[in-house]
Amino acid sequence: MRTRRPGPFQLPVRDIERKPGEMREHSLEIPAPEKWGEGLVSVPEAEPLELEVRLESVHEGILVSGTVDTTATGVCGRCLIDIEEPVEVEFQELFAYPGNEASDFDVQDDHVDLENLVRDAIVLSLPFQPVCQPDCPGLDPNTGERLTESPGDTEQTPVDSRWAALQQYTPDDGDAHRAAPKTEKS
Ligand SMILES: [Zn+2]
Repeated sequence: MRTRRPGPFQLPVRDIERKPGEMREHSLEIPAPEKWGEGLVSVPEAEPLELEVRLESVHEGILVSGTVDTTATGVCGRCLIDIEEPVEVEFQELFAYPGNEASDFDVQDDHVDLENLVRDAIVLSLPFQPVCQPDCPGLDPNTGERLTESPGDTEQTPVDSRWAALQQYTPDDGDAHRAAPKTEKS
């Protein structure tokens, strides 16, 4: 008796259930059902999730493993520019048959539901301090402007006129006289 219509993350396992050794592979593309992640970067709702999933029938249930590829978007933690980050994470979980000891994941109605598994794998992989580039110089503390990668200090610093005057000042005539004049012997 199945009244619920399976969602996109629910994969049928009826044909391999209780047949240890049987295996099925699925390639899926599913839009993210909602925004995943609460930090500076997150996977936006409807962002495509590319899933490669392997379902293996084992004695205790269905072993689910695979990878998910998607893109997280947000802002650099230092300079706040918009950034995109590729996300590729692996996941693996045993979906136990109902009736066995309690498990976070169960085979239900001849299906395994990957949504929580995939969401947790993605959210846990998102960086807390994302940067647009490893050596992002961040923001100028004075102006709040984004610093460029080469903070150009190429301008010649003009010599302060007060120091320029000192450069022409001969400190002590006595010193000059004390120095022995070089005489060339011919
Ligand atoms: Zn940055």
